[in-house]
Amino acid sequence: MSIQDIVRDDDVAVYKTLLESTRAIPWKIDWATLRFAYVGPQIEELLGWAPESWMTVQDWVDRMHPEDRAWVFDFCVSQSMAGIDHEADYRALRKDGTFVWIRDVVHVVRNEDGTPNALVGFMFDISERKRTEEKLLNMQRELEELSFKDGLTGVPNRRRFDTMMETEWRDAKDTHKPISLVVLDIDFFKQYNDHYGHLEGDECLKRVASALSGIVRRPADLLCRFGGEEFVLLLPDTDEAEALALGWRCLDLVDKALIPHAGIGSGKRITMSAGVNSIVPKEGDELSAFIRRADQRLYSAKERGRARVVADGC
Ligand code: GH3
Ligand code: MG
Ligand code: MG
Repeated sequence: MSIQDIVRDDDVAVYKTLLESTRAIPWKIDWATLRFAYVGPQIEELLGWAPESWMTVQDWVDRMHPEDRAWVFDFCVSQSMAGIDHEADYRALRKDGTFVWIRDVVHVVRNEDGTPNALVGFMFDISERKRTEEKLLNMQRELEELSFKDGLTGVPNRRRFDTMMETEWRDAKDTHKPISLVVLDIDFFKQYNDHYGHLEGDECLKRVASALSGIVRRPADLLCRFGGEEFVLLLPDTDEAEALALGWRCLDLVDKALIPHAGIGSGKRITMSAGVNSIVPKEGDELSAFIRRADQRLYSAKERGRARVVADGC
């Protein structure tokens, strides 16, 4: 291995010092033999492998994370053959078995006829940058999750409902499957706040949400806080009879939570009313009309004395 291949004789000492005192790791590969002509000694500090152990391109490939090997190798070879300078991020294997993120920046030295003569480049340790990127990605994911969660009760919020409802509505249209909605509202909640205070009202909402969460049977079912003291249960691939039964089960779950409501009389407890709507949507059916109908049935349930579920024809 010799630095002379890269720089003029009289500059060798200066360039060698410069190259070997940077944090980036310089290297050179002869294209004809696919062997390393040079690797900066810094490589040993970063990866643990001595410079002399970097003999061939195969050593470089073997010291790469198995998931990165194929694409990095194919990419670098194709770019080099096309004479294009390039860079690749991959995980390099350390002698101790751990991996470190590397950015390899590659310059293709070409013969007069344009064919590659050698590859020269620098390896940069980008593990810190990768860690920061990962942290940012995680934060982004957390924020996204938070933006779909109701801050008070922890159940999915209206935003999540709107998104999922649109998706499931389109899906039901495409697959000709039924879709159902149960809109639920706490009875006499204003009196609850008036009697116990707003903070206790908040606690009550949390308990109701927690009780209602027990209704979710499948990943596709979605219970959301619709707003105020109203919740909604979205049931893809569910017909009216099933939805009606689930509506009653919701009321039962809340009833069994035994939340006292002295604001409407001693010994009374929190109850809910619900409206159910089901449909196999066809072209031309409007989602807003579907939701409105469930809402109208909720109001029928209220008018008929609360603590009940109203569906089509009942
Ligand atoms: P109904 O049986 O007809 O549903 O009567 P209601 O009293 O439950 O309904 P109304 O719409 O008159 O009152 C709803 C109350 O819910 C009023 C509002 O202050 C309260 N509310 C809405 N959101 C919250 C909340 O986040 N926390 C608390 N504590 N109260 C809330
Ligand atoms: Mg209410
Ligand atoms: Mg309401």
